[in-house]
Amino acid sequence: MNTDEKKNKHFIEKIIEDDLANGRVPGGEIVTRFPPEPNGYLHLGHAKSIILNFSLAEQYGGRCHLRLDDTNPEKEDMEYINAIQSDIRWLGFDWGDHLYHASDYYQQLYEIAVSLIKENKAYVDSLTPEQMKEYRGTLTQPGKNSPDRDRSIEENLRLFEEMKEGKHPEGSYLLRAKLDMASPNLNLRDPALYRIKFAHHPRTGDTWCIYPMYDYTHPISDAIEGVTHSICTLEFEDHRPAYDWATSIDHIDHTPHQYEFARLNINYTVMSKRKLLFLVKNKLVDGWDDPRMPTLVGVRRRGYSPEALNMFIARVGVAKVESVVDFALLEFCVREDLNKRAKRVMAVLKPLKVTVTNYPEGETELIEVENNPEDPGAGTRKIPFSRTLYIEQEDFMEVPMKGYRRLFPGNEVRFKGAYYLTAQEVVQDEEGHVIEVLCTYDPESRGGTTPDERKVRGTIHWVSAAHAVEATVRLYDKLFLTENPGERTGNYLDDINHDSLVTLTECKVEPSLVQSTPGEYLQFMRNGYFTLDTSDSSPESLVFNRTVTLKDSWTRKKGQ
Ligand code: ATP
Ligand code: MG
Repeated sequence: MNTDEKKNKHFIEKIIEDDLANGRVPGGEIVTRFPPEPNGYLHLGHAKSIILNFSLAEQYGGRCHLRLDDTNPEKEDMEYINAIQSDIRWLGFDWGDHLYHASDYYQQLYEIAVSLIKENKAYVDSLTPEQMKEYRGTLTQPGKNSPDRDRSIEENLRLFEEMKEGKHPEGSYLLRAKLDMASPNLNLRDPALYRIKFAHHPRTGDTWCIYPMYDYTHPISDAIEGVTHSICTLEFEDHRPAYDWATSIDHIDHTPHQYEFARLNINYTVMSKRKLLFLVKNKLVDGWDDPRMPTLVGVRRRGYSPEALNMFIARVGVAKVESVVDFALLEFCVREDLNKRAKRVMAVLKPLKVTVTNYPEGETELIEVENNPEDPGAGTRKIPFSRTLYIEQEDFMEVPMKGYRRLFPGNEVRFKGAYYLTAQEVVQDEEGHVIEVLCTYDPESRGGTTPDERKVRGTIHWVSAAHAVEATVRLYDKLFLTENPGERTGNYLDDINHDSLVTLTECKVEPSLVQSTPGEYLQFMRNGYFTLDTSDSSPESLVFNRTVTLKDSWTRKKGQ
């Protein structure tokens, strides 16, 4: 490896390499994990964590576990558990046999808790939540010991057993570790280990009515699985001492280490499952997979590829300082990727009829066009040309504005891949709107050149009216109007963009699109990248979603 490559390593890679070089990794095998809580769908932020954890394991020949951190039964659901797995696979990663659940360890966690009680390192507390808060102290003031801290070991064992047997109501007791109520770190002030919850768990059903807390469960789960590098986001930095405590208790014989990195934040979006769930529940979007959502199911339905997301995350990098990434970077990566792979097709979103008056009536010819000029291997296909065509309304102006190069009376333009056409006359409706343009074509210009090599300045796309297929097209804008939703008023809902979806129902697309399948990446020439909608499209009624525009129209709008 040359020094340049070394320089580009991020801090976690450096830590891992140092640990490997100094024999600090048991068996020399790096073990990471991605530990989502199954209380919602994964979002772009999770993609960063997934890519980081799985790639590190790949890079150093180790393994990455998927662990569902299912310790909050009321909020968790099998739907989420299944979606999480499908999203990770879609991103291109595989946990092999290493699928775990925090709930796999409930028995072990319980036994360790009993041992802690026996060693006088944990106690059952009956303070009310209000008292608990008062005893806890603040950042500047130490806490006070709970009167229950001196309960006898026997009584603690009995009460904990009774908690487990469902003899006490929710909120009546907590099992707490006996650490230090005066610790400057609030998380070390006798953290709660277990609480009572009469909730049905998606996996363990009604077996348990006491559930272990995150700060107890997470580190011990890591230790049980032999995780070497437990990578999480910066907000867990303050929990690291609690992590170190939990992984150093006597009943644990492997010691993982926690490292924190900056979470992914993207402007014009929110990435908290709680907020995303609110949008779904209140029907502000069309479900978790609404193409405007920053969820992985959402961006997938929108037409982003896993490769584009991997490229994006690689560009964002791994750092220890919080920052906000520009949404434009994400779209840039999506375009880069789609430019290479999307099939170019013709689709007219707002049709205007064109009649080629000197083209024989009833005749159709097939014009061969490239599927992707960026990829010669993508081949060609044939599209029909005939006397009646559709073009975009905006590609014609009866009275052209200055610099307008498209169709206007007397002007000759290239109909992409076909012929040169000149607009001659218009047909208007009763209100004077142009409803049809009468053109003539130059039969010598087939394929886009003429014997006299005359140049035209405009090229427009078109479809043949008789062959075109009707389609619905959805154009998306950002879901939020401001860079930091909620910053102005304290409520992110105030910044929702209510015009973030425009549905066009009278679009005309080239006939080959009847064969399009969900997941196929398309470029509608001059209109952007599109993909068939996975939920609402059917062969009888095609629905396409715009993935991204061809250029960064947002930046232009802001006048940059
Ligand atoms: P949210 O705050 O969106 O509800 P969470 O952190 O509660 O997310 P978890 O399911 O607990 O979601 O997260 C699983 C893993 O994903 C954790 O290791 C967490 O640190 C990581 N993660 C969550 N959000 C981001 C983000 N924006 N950037 C990077 N990693 C993230
Ligand atoms: Mg969480």
